[in-house]
Amino acid sequence: MEMITTVSGMQAWSDVRRAEGRTIALVPTMGALHEGHLALVRRAAERCDDVIVSIFVNPTQFGPDEDFDRYPRDMERDTTLLSEVDSSIVVYAPGVREVYPDGPAASLTWVEVERLDRHLCGQFREGHFRGVTTVVTKLLLACKPDEAFFGLKDAQQFVIIERMVRDLQFDVEIVGVPIVREEDGLAASSRNAYLTPSQRASAPALFHAVRAVERQVVEGEQRSEALVESMRSILQEAEGAEIEYAEVVDAESLEPVDRIRPGQDVLAAVAVYFGDTRLIDNVFVRAPEAA
Ligand code: AMP
Repeated sequence: MEMITTVSGMQAWSDVRRAEGRTIALVPTMGALHEGHLALVRRAAERCDDVIVSIFVNPTQFGPDEDFDRYPRDMERDTTLLSEVDSSIVVYAPGVREVYPDGPAASLTWVEVERLDRHLCGQFREGHFRGVTTVVTKLLLACKPDEAFFGLKDAQQFVIIERMVRDLQFDVEIVGVPIVREEDGLAASSRNAYLTPSQRASAPALFHAVRAVERQVVEGEQRSEALVESMRSILQEAEGAEIEYAEVVDAESLEPVDRIRPGQDVLAAVAVYFGDTRLIDNVFVRAPEAA
């Protein structure tokens, strides 16, 4: 499996492939790969001739009290998993100094999408989305893909990146891939590995909460307060769960919704702590049109 670790090496590789008329997909990840990541990779391989999977634990999207140091890293396992999907995948794995030559803290240039980062996770993870949009910009400039693949598991990230690409007129198509779940509904996540057995047993409550909202919206419930209440009561019953937020927002602006309009696309999203481990889940749902 080919691995590229420098920006200039990655750009040169993409220039050659593009000159040959081949289409290039980028799947950005932080490694610790699981079925959720592999679904993105498979989708990318269906749509493009060449697939780049970037593996980079980006320091600028972690807050000072977050899990940057303990985030799971296992390059050998990740490359083995990828080669089982497709041995022609190229891994782009730059070091921190390659991406941030002066060190992350000394960087003076940032990409920031306004307003959309004020809601949901953004209220609690200051600077997180600025780190994400900055690193995704750097990855797009290094890899020069035709299409880039993101999971809907990180719904706010997806909405923000789509908006960034539109506002900055990047020549790339952003493709969203549905959430991959374990058999009991828990969304696959690198952070699930931190859960104790009893936390793991309670964790599908996030899925049950957002699925309950999906059902109620489809059945015509318009009052956001009632939907939030039902998510909270499901989460409160899960042993060891501490709710960070449970919200229903507009799917495009991410502004909280009071009363859902007929035909409106909304996003129900939750973030919950089990001990130090923070899990998220969500569902996009369209309200029925007026009868
Ligand atoms: P991460 O390595 O956590 O930064 O995730 C890399 C990409 O994989 C992001 O676009 C995530 O949204 C996506 N992803 C992570 N978990 C899942 C999942 N369970 N289902 C679908 N996509 C996922």
